[in-house]
Amino acid sequence: MKNQKTLIIFDFDNTLFKTREFWREYLFPFYIKIGIPENYIEGAFIKATTVPVDYFVPKLFINELYSAVKKDNKYSRQQLKDIFKTHVYSPTVRKYFYPGSLRLLRKAKKKYKTLLISYGDKKFKTKFFNYCGLDRYFSSEEIIITGRKKAESLGRLAVPENCVIIDDMKDEAKEMASFLVGKGISVKILVAHRSLKEILKKI
Ligand SMILES: [Mg+2]
Repeated sequence: MKNQKTLIIFDFDNTLFKTREFWREYLFPFYIKIGIPENYIEGAFIKATTVPVDYFVPKLFINELYSAVKKDNKYSRQQLKDIFKTHVYSPTVRKYFYPGSLRLLRKAKKKYKTLLISYGDKKFKTKFFNYCGLDRYFSSEEIIITGRKKAESLGRLAVPENCVIIDDMKDEAKEMASFLVGKGISVKILVAHRSLKEILKKI
């Protein structure tokens, strides 16, 4: 009989990390403070997460924001970029993990095999995850950042016979699960909803 550790696959955005609050309650106010209207920031953010790819790309955000404020002649592109870099690439971002997240990661690292699969821009997220301190919980091979469907990343991996998926999006989890079940792996989905304390009790 095989004696393999269960694999836990974590989602990052809005599962472990308060992604929505992070942008709107943490980053946006730094731009509002220098006089940029909130709807400009929101507009630039939406465009930078939808055109031409449907995940956030920092350069697109700065470009969009700059083109919105350019006519006022009050801000330089560099200034907008510096605000972003100072606050997003900072260990302060660790305040935006959900309660129980880091405890859950510590526990999982001790007891199970772990993997983090995150949808988004690889260059941005690789850098951002360093500031989040994820290297304490995952080796670089245990973090996958993809701009494609998450289930597609699973094809190349050796997955043990038992797997748990922790994700705030049930459909995304189900898609990964059906791929794994097709390979004969037994999968349990735990849907994360803001606090990880309940999930912490289950694993
Ligand atoms: Mg998510």
